[in-house]
Amino acid sequence: MALVNEHFLKLPNNYLFADIAKKVNAFKVSHPKASVISLGIGDVTRPICPAVLEAMHKAVDEMGEKATFRGYGPEQGYQFLREAIVKNDFLPRGIHLDPSEIFVNDGAKSDTGNIQELVRWDNSIGVTDPIYPVYIDSNVMIGRAGVVEDGKWSNVVYMPCTAENNFTPALPDKRVDIIYLCYPNNPTGEVITKEELKKWVNYAIKNDTLIFYDAAYEAYIQDPDIPHSIYEIKGARKVAIEFHSYSKTAGFTGIRCGYTVVPKELTAATLKGDRIELNHLWYRRQCTKFNGTSYISQRAAEAIYTPEGKEQIKATIDYYMNNAKLMYRTLTELGLEVYGGKNAPYLWVKTPNGMGSWKFFEQMLYEAHVVCTPGVGFGPAGEGYIRLTAFGDKDDCIEAMERIKKWLK
Ligand SMILES: *Cc1c(COP(=O)(O)O)cnc(C)c1O
Repeated sequence: MALVNEHFLKLPNNYLFADIAKKVNAFKVSHPKASVISLGIGDVTRPICPAVLEAMHKAVDEMGEKATFRGYGPEQGYQFLREAIVKNDFLPRGIHLDPSEIFVNDGAKSDTGNIQELVRWDNSIGVTDPIYPVYIDSNVMIGRAGVVEDGKWSNVVYMPCTAENNFTPALPDKRVDIIYLCYPNNPTGEVITKEELKKWVNYAIKNDTLIFYDAAYEAYIQDPDIPHSIYEIKGARKVAIEFHSYSKTAGFTGIRCGYTVVPKELTAATLKGDRIELNHLWYRRQCTKFNGTSYISQRAAEAIYTPEGKEQIKATIDYYMNNAKLMYRTLTELGLEVYGGKNAPYLWVKTPNGMGSWKFFEQMLYEAHVVCTPGVGFGPAGEGYIRLTAFGDKDDCIEAMERIKKWLK
């Protein structure tokens, strides 16, 4: 008899975005003439930029010639891309990494989910709340999260991020082995200052805590003082793994490419107290379970670092950030409390009069025909908030704001 991994059965059956789709469909069936605008999606909508397209076409042609055909690539990623990453994403910020500390992947979701394989099942974990669901769910699957009690996992330390604490999570009052941080944050769109991030790095050094730092939205940072990488903080290389993704940076949600940084100095302990290099373990893990990202995707990613590529992806990011600006201005003028949206493509809006997230979601759908994401879907501290994304079409965004204006007035 094959026994199932029963930890999977603990996961909630209802997936947030499936629940939303169901409710939107029910509305559409009863209101066939209404045109619904979605500001709920977490996917980009602008097409791939010309520099990347050109690189992909060229890579496809290479695959069709005997002399330039490529089979399996290096598990860790091609040297040309890892060198471009080190040179463009880190050196200008004074961070010196070696290409052997970069692991190219097929997007950050895989690695943020898989990375927890490196540490024992009985480590404690801490997460900011609300949170990208992958971090917790991947720990549930291996049995590390415990059981759900009142919407919270029993073995997870939640660090609430709300308007009351200015979305700056307090350091946990007890020791935690592993902490997930995501900045700029999905879903709140808020950022962390160097001063605040320093506190986390110092906490990790003092407590021998491992930080998993998700920087998927760093390209959206506008304010020059906000850190793009945790390695901008002294000592972080000893305590942190960092995840990057080209999905939001360059519209790669369909192409699939990103990378993970595992510094050579980073270690974790054995029960006996020996220190083990995690870079070596992750390399070993990837060689066994991952056969690399496609050559075409890696050439596509490399093209982002050319002068044309940089300019073109910036234009797309500016497009989304203009949407964010427009949304921020309209909603603030309407008297709503709005967070995020300045260094991230997400706006986190407090529902008026303490209304529940789902109730506000339904009212906005039925009365303004605009879809948002209920904040509580990202964790208990998200109750009383909704998330709006700036990834849509500009005209849709303008129309949605007009509708919300009419509705709330
Ligand atoms: C979108 C997103 C990612 C990136 O996912 P990919 O697998 O690279 O497409 C990672 N982390 C967060 C928080 C995200 O929102």
